[in-house]
Amino acid sequence: MNNRKVVIIGDGMVGSSIAFTVLQDETVNELIIIDVNKDKAQGDVLDLAHGMCFVSPKKIKAGDYDDIKDAHVVVITAGVAQRPGETRLQLLERNIKIFDSITNSMKPYLEDDAIVLVVTNPVDVLSYYVYKKLGIDSKRVIGSGTVLDTARLKSVIADHTGIDPRNVHTFVVGEHGDSEVAAYSVTTIGGIPISEYCNSCKKCCDKRLELLNLHHVVKDAAYQIIAKKGATYYAVALAVNQILKALLNNYHSVLTVSTYIQNEFDGQVRDIYFSLPCVVSSRGVEKILHPSYSKDEVDQIVKSGKTIENEIKSIS
Ligand code: NAD
Repeated sequence: MNNRKVVIIGDGMVGSSIAFTVLQDETVNELIIIDVNKDKAQGDVLDLAHGMCFVSPKKIKAGDYDDIKDAHVVVITAGVAQRPGETRLQLLERNIKIFDSITNSMKPYLEDDAIVLVVTNPVDVLSYYVYKKLGIDSKRVIGSGTVLDTARLKSVIADHTGIDPRNVHTFVVGEHGDSEVAAYSVTTIGGIPISEYCNSCKKCCDKRLELLNLHHVVKDAAYQIIAKKGATYYAVALAVNQILKALLNNYHSVLTVSTYIQNEFDGQVRDIYFSLPCVVSSRGVEKILHPSYSKDEVDQIVKSGKTIENEIKSIS
């Protein structure tokens, strides 16, 4: 792929942070930013363009939907924030209206092999909605899912053990939300299963309680950050950049993106989007991997799937 063109729809805190991260990487060489607030997109493009002498050459512009022609990936971060007193369902209804208009506008220009990457929350339900609405191969509609949550879990385990987070292998799977599941049974540190590593770590914590607590920190992370500064955007921007690199460089990376689940866990999870470890290449999601989860984890993953199933029913 010589020309690697990415369009970001939604230039708020998350969209602009993705643009800033992408700008500093070599993977993307054409970046288009679309927002209903055209001044914001134009202002960001000017600001970013002024740093172009410090990064690899790329084109960048504030655009419109016809710029989606020739794009390899369209990233959607557009949405509205939760109003005080508003329920999750009411928020979902407002974001569905926005997604209706976005998918209608983008559909005429979307290339046959383009990938759509959804970031807006609730990301699993909205990825499912985009997949159904566009009617394209499910491999090509991906949600950022629990890539961020997995990164957060790696980071807190790394902090706790004093090991480089890049040597911690773990997955957070299921919903990107309260019902997500930390798959400790398939977590390793330097190739050693975490249960064995804990025995030799000599930090003398209560292993099980400490692991549960680490996952609580991950689940609570977004609430904590939002309470302190209103939104989360830097780590998700790095997570999205990692997904873009896998898509545009055909990396075949294992990432916990949100993907279409036709029928998993002996038919207990069907026809929803949620995150499992997936092989991600230039064609999108190549396949889902099935590590050996514990029985308890499988029960939790199935329960997480039911949560999303109910949300999807509420919009159908
Ligand atoms: P924000 O309010 O700062 O930005 C939203 C942007 O969308 C605004 O610039 C707005 O003008 C734009 N927009 C609204 N309607 C539009 C439309 N029809 N077309 C084009 N643009 C439109 O919000 P944010 O902090 O950037 O968050 C964006 C979304 O990302 C939220 O749903 C948030 O929950 C989600 N998020 C997801 C993850 C994840 O891991 N999946 C992490 C953090 C945030």
